[in-house]
Amino acid sequence: MTLHIAPVAPKTESARAFLATGPKRLLIDGEWILPASGRHFASIDPATGATLAMIGEGDAADVDAAVASARRAFTSDAWRGMTPTNRGRLLGKIADLIEAHADELSEIETLDQGKSLKTARFGEIPGAIAQFRYYAGFANKILGETIPTSIGYQPPGKKIFAYTTREPVGVVAAITPWNSPLLMASMKLAPALAAGCTVILKPAEDTSLTALRLGELMIEAGLPKGVVNIVTGYGRTVGAALAAHDGVDKIGFTGSTATGKALLGAAQGNLKRLTLELGGKSPAIVLADADLKLAVPGVARGIFANGGQVCVAGSRVYAHRSIYDALVEGLASEATKLKLGHGLAPDTDLGPLVSRRQADRVASYVEGGRADGAEIVAGGRQDGEFGTFFEPTIVTNTRPDMALMREEIFGPVVAVTPFDETDEVLALANDSRYGLAASLWTESLSSAHRMAAEIRAGTVWINCHSYFSPELPKGGHKESGWGYENGAQGLENYLETKTVCAVI
Ligand code: NAD
Repeated sequence: MTLHIAPVAPKTESARAFLATGPKRLLIDGEWILPASGRHFASIDPATGATLAMIGEGDAADVDAAVASARRAFTSDAWRGMTPTNRGRLLGKIADLIEAHADELSEIETLDQGKSLKTARFGEIPGAIAQFRYYAGFANKILGETIPTSIGYQPPGKKIFAYTTREPVGVVAAITPWNSPLLMASMKLAPALAAGCTVILKPAEDTSLTALRLGELMIEAGLPKGVVNIVTGYGRTVGAALAAHDGVDKIGFTGSTATGKALLGAAQGNLKRLTLELGGKSPAIVLADADLKLAVPGVARGIFANGGQVCVAGSRVYAHRSIYDALVEGLASEATKLKLGHGLAPDTDLGPLVSRRQADRVASYVEGGRADGAEIVAGGRQDGEFGTFFEPTIVTNTRPDMALMREEIFGPVVAVTPFDETDEVLALANDSRYGLAASLWTESLSSAHRMAAEIRAGTVWINCHSYFSPELPKGGHKESGWGYENGAQGLENYLETKTVCAVI
């Protein structure tokens, strides 16, 4: 291990002040309280191993209190009685406050997760702001319908009048992963609040800090007490208690497919509504006529951004044999250009992965592939004093049955495979239990759209990868999930329909 990382302090006074405020608390019923267990665990800067803050270790007792608070808030005058326009205005205020604190939140996110400051400041924190702005506009546009019916048996002289209303689904448990913490939390909070729901947010145990700071900003924005509660802690305790709780009406979950499947069982007691945004093993297909000046950096960004810790990361690249060598060479050159370092250092492209555990996991896939005959063309090494860094890695000579081709690695590792025919590459691309996303790189509009129709994935990008916007629905086919976030569909996750049919 050769990389030695010196600690880098955040520049913003407010980030330093937030980290210095002592052990973090849980947000329940508008109050910051100590966890019932009395215990805390450390949140670690994965680049330096330094303890950033102590996080409250919530448990089932805290979940009970948070659910009770969310239930009270759901029917409170302060929330239920708030006009839709004022609900939208409140979401707008939250967006404004995140924007005003964007430097601070980016620094906290970088320290806690490891990502580069560029990723946080120019990608994820603006993405979180955009979520609140987008759904703010929906709050006063949630409409039912009046419906002419064909019922013929009403009493003489009477008529049928039927309509639907849309109602918030109720108390929502939002359970989020560690790769893009504030953005993932915002993708649940913004539509849930626009719909009029109340929320218990459970951030990932490795990265709770920006959720807690967002809690403070939401209170500053004027969110009534109990509308958002934040219970930090472990998945096996806080997450499992939320999933099984009869007072929770809906789970909005983003995380691994394995945990998503576990939630199905846990949620069955009261038939909670479930939205599952799960893992992926997304293909990037580069056709013979692709513009390599666009494709090489685009495919490289599609896998290496955020150290590959992106659900839609293009971890399987299929390149037409005629451009295969040029693409591998181009990707290797992009990989070696990326500078590893502390996320807060200005010249860092790639920070550490979120934890030693995650870096070990990535290393085990690369070692397994190597043992099975795969060739490492670039990178391949775990690094750093704490073993949390992993070099951007390009693997060739793989077989479709290798674990590194079938399982989600969630690190900066890409396998590049040659192909000859369109049917062949479509079969390879679809040969996965996942179906989250894919990208196609070609100058032929006709090939691009014909192939897009054949790919089993929730998103297909053409000549780009990992392009997100709140307007664009995002979700998984196959084992990549249930339901869609973003867009009008994202709001639907938090609404029920009621039909009213009257004889008048
Ligand atoms: P994870 O499934 O381990 O954890 C996600 C969250 O679930 C955490 O908050 C965790 O504490 C909680 N949890 C764990 N066990 C639980 C249980 N038994 N009951 C309830 N909650 C539990 O996932 P992760 O490792 O934090 O995140 C990485 C995964 O997230 C990857 O698979 C990635 O693809 C996926 N992800 C998907 C999307 C998407 O939009 N599809 C986006 C980002 C990340």
